[in-house]
Amino acid sequence: MCFCGQALPFEQCCNLIITGKSKPENAEQLMRSRYSAYCAKNGEYIVNTYAAEKRLEHTVEDILLFANQVEFVHLDVINTGQDQNFQYVEFKASYLDGQQLEVLHERSRFIKEDGKWVYLDGNLFPCEGKKVSRNDPCPCLSGKKFKKCHG
Ligand SMILES: [Zn+2]
Ligand SMILES: [Zn+2]
Repeated sequence: MCFCGQALPFEQCCNLIITGKSKPENAEQLMRSRYSAYCAKNGEYIVNTYAAEKRLEHTVEDILLFANQVEFVHLDVINTGQDQNFQYVEFKASYLDGQQLEVLHERSRFIKEDGKWVYLDGNLFPCEGKKVSRNDPCPCLSGKKFKKCHG
Protein backbone atom coordinates (compact mmCIF):
# COMPACT_ATOMS: atom_id res chain seq x y z
CA MET A 1 0.00 0.00 0.00
CA CYS A 2 1.21 3.52 -0.76
CA PHE A 3 1.71 6.01 2.11
CA CYS A 4 -1.26 7.94 0.68
CA GLY A 5 -3.57 4.97 1.31
CA GLN A 6 -4.08 3.82 -2.28
CA ALA A 7 -3.77 0.10 -2.91
CA LEU A 8 -0.71 0.32 -5.19
CA PRO A 9 2.79 0.24 -3.72
CA PHE A 10 4.53 3.61 -3.28
CA GLU A 11 6.83 2.95 -6.28
CA GLN A 12 3.81 2.56 -8.56
CA CYS A 13 1.75 5.32 -6.96
CA CYS A 14 3.03 8.60 -5.54
CA ASN A 15 6.69 7.90 -6.27
CA LEU A 16 5.98 8.04 -10.03
CA ILE A 17 4.79 11.60 -9.54
CA ILE A 18 7.55 12.53 -7.09
CA THR A 19 10.25 11.35 -9.50
CA GLY A 20 8.56 13.06 -12.45
CA LYS A 21 7.81 9.82 -14.32
CA SER A 22 4.16 10.70 -14.42
CA LYS A 23 2.29 13.97 -14.06
CA PRO A 24 -0.48 14.52 -11.52
CA GLU A 25 -3.72 14.77 -13.45
CA ASN A 26 -5.43 16.76 -10.76
CA ALA A 27 -4.87 18.49 -7.47
CA GLU A 28 -5.80 15.40 -5.46
CA GLN A 29 -2.98 13.40 -7.02
CA LEU A 30 -0.54 16.20 -6.33
CA MET A 31 -1.77 16.47 -2.75
CA ARG A 32 -1.35 12.72 -2.22
CA SER A 33 2.18 12.85 -3.63
CA ARG A 34 3.07 15.73 -1.29
CA TYR A 35 1.75 13.77 1.69
CA SER A 36 3.80 10.74 0.60
CA ALA A 37 6.85 12.98 0.14
CA TYR A 38 6.52 13.93 3.82
CA CYS A 39 6.47 10.23 4.68
CA ALA A 40 9.47 9.56 2.42
CA LYS A 41 11.19 12.70 3.79
CA ASN A 42 11.66 14.29 0.40
CA GLY A 43 11.83 17.97 1.33
CA GLU A 44 12.88 19.16 -2.11
CA TYR A 45 9.77 17.80 -3.74
CA ILE A 46 7.59 19.54 -1.16
CA VAL A 47 9.32 22.88 -1.73
CA ASN A 48 9.17 22.48 -5.50
CA THR A 49 5.43 21.83 -5.50
CA TYR A 50 4.56 25.07 -3.70
CA ALA A 51 3.22 27.84 -5.94
CA ALA A 52 6.04 30.15 -7.05
CA GLU A 53 4.83 33.01 -4.84
CA LYS A 54 5.01 30.77 -1.73
CA ARG A 55 8.13 28.78 -2.50
CA LEU A 56 10.59 31.20 -0.90
CA GLU A 57 8.73 31.00 2.43
CA HIS A 58 9.70 27.35 2.80
CA THR A 59 13.05 25.62 3.13
CA VAL A 60 13.98 21.99 2.73
CA GLU A 61 15.57 22.16 6.21
CA ASP A 62 12.34 23.28 7.92
CA ILE A 63 10.31 20.66 6.11
CA LEU A 64 12.74 17.89 7.01
CA LEU A 65 12.88 19.05 10.61
CA PHE A 66 9.11 18.56 10.84
CA ALA A 67 9.06 15.37 8.73
CA ASN A 68 11.72 13.79 10.94
CA GLN A 69 10.08 14.81 14.20
CA VAL A 70 6.69 13.30 13.44
CA GLU A 71 5.39 10.16 11.79
CA PHE A 72 2.50 10.46 9.38
CA VAL A 73 0.23 7.45 9.81
CA HIS A 74 -2.94 8.05 7.83
CA LEU A 75 -4.43 10.21 5.09
CA ASP A 76 -8.13 10.74 4.48
CA VAL A 77 -9.15 12.68 1.41
CA ILE A 78 -12.55 14.01 2.40
CA ASN A 79 -13.62 16.14 -0.51
CA THR A 80 -12.42 17.66 -3.76
CA GLY A 81 -13.82 20.50 -5.80
CA GLN A 82 -12.97 23.16 -8.30
CA ASP A 83 -13.98 26.51 -9.67
CA GLN A 84 -12.67 28.51 -12.62
CA ASN A 85 -9.25 29.20 -11.12
CA PHE A 86 -8.52 26.62 -8.47
CA GLN A 87 -8.92 23.03 -7.43
CA TYR A 88 -9.58 22.26 -3.79
CA VAL A 89 -8.81 19.20 -1.69
CA GLU A 90 -10.07 18.77 1.84
CA PHE A 91 -8.14 16.17 3.78
CA LYS A 92 -7.18 14.92 7.20
CA ALA A 93 -3.56 13.88 7.68
CA SER A 94 -2.91 12.09 10.96
CA TYR A 95 0.54 12.04 12.44
CA LEU A 96 2.19 10.96 15.64
CA ASP A 97 4.41 13.26 17.61
CA GLY A 98 5.67 10.76 20.15
CA GLN A 99 2.50 9.34 21.70
CA GLN A 100 0.47 12.37 20.75
CA LEU A 101 -1.82 11.93 17.76
CA GLU A 102 -2.38 15.13 15.81
CA VAL A 103 -4.74 15.59 12.90
CA LEU A 104 -4.03 18.19 10.26
CA HIS A 105 -7.45 18.97 8.77
CA GLU A 106 -7.11 21.35 5.86
CA ARG A 107 -8.91 22.55 2.77
CA SER A 108 -6.08 23.24 0.35
CA ARG A 109 -6.12 25.35 -2.75
CA PHE A 110 -4.14 24.38 -5.84
CA ILE A 111 -3.37 26.22 -9.07
CA LYS A 112 -1.80 25.26 -12.35
CA GLU A 113 1.48 26.99 -13.15
CA ASP A 114 3.02 26.33 -16.55
CA GLY A 115 0.75 23.33 -16.93
CA LYS A 116 1.78 21.87 -13.55
CA TRP A 117 -0.41 21.55 -10.47
CA VAL A 118 1.10 23.27 -7.42
CA TYR A 119 -0.06 23.92 -3.86
CA LEU A 120 -1.06 27.51 -3.16
CA ASP A 121 -2.44 27.66 0.37
CA GLY A 122 -5.09 26.24 2.63
CA ASN A 123 -7.51 26.82 5.47
CA LEU A 124 -6.97 24.80 8.61
CA PHE A 125 -9.87 23.43 10.60
CA PRO A 126 -9.32 23.34 14.36
CA CYS A 127 -8.39 19.88 15.57
CA GLU A 128 -7.55 18.59 18.97
CA GLY A 129 -4.69 16.24 19.44
CA LYS A 130 -5.02 13.26 21.73
CA LYS A 131 -2.71 10.91 23.50
CA VAL A 132 -2.67 7.36 22.19
CA SER A 133 -2.47 4.62 24.81
CA ARG A 134 -0.44 1.48 24.28
CA ASN A 135 -3.53 -0.71 24.01
CA ASP A 136 -5.55 1.59 21.74
CA PRO A 137 -6.12 0.60 18.10
CA CYS A 138 -3.26 2.07 16.07
CA PRO A 139 -4.23 5.35 14.38
CA CYS A 140 -2.81 4.05 11.07
CA LEU A 141 -5.90 1.76 10.99
CA SER A 142 -3.82 -1.39 10.64
CA GLY A 143 -6.17 -3.11 13.09
CA LYS A 144 -3.26 -3.80 15.46
CA LYS A 145 -2.78 -2.35 18.91
CA PHE A 146 -0.72 0.82 19.01
CA LYS A 147 2.08 -0.84 21.01
CA LYS A 148 2.43 -3.59 18.38
CA CYS A 149 2.42 -1.18 15.45
CA HIS A 150 3.49 2.47 15.48
CA GLY A 151 3.86 2.67 19.27
ZN1 LIG B 1 0.21 7.23 -3.29
ZN1 LIG C 1 0.21 1.59 13.07
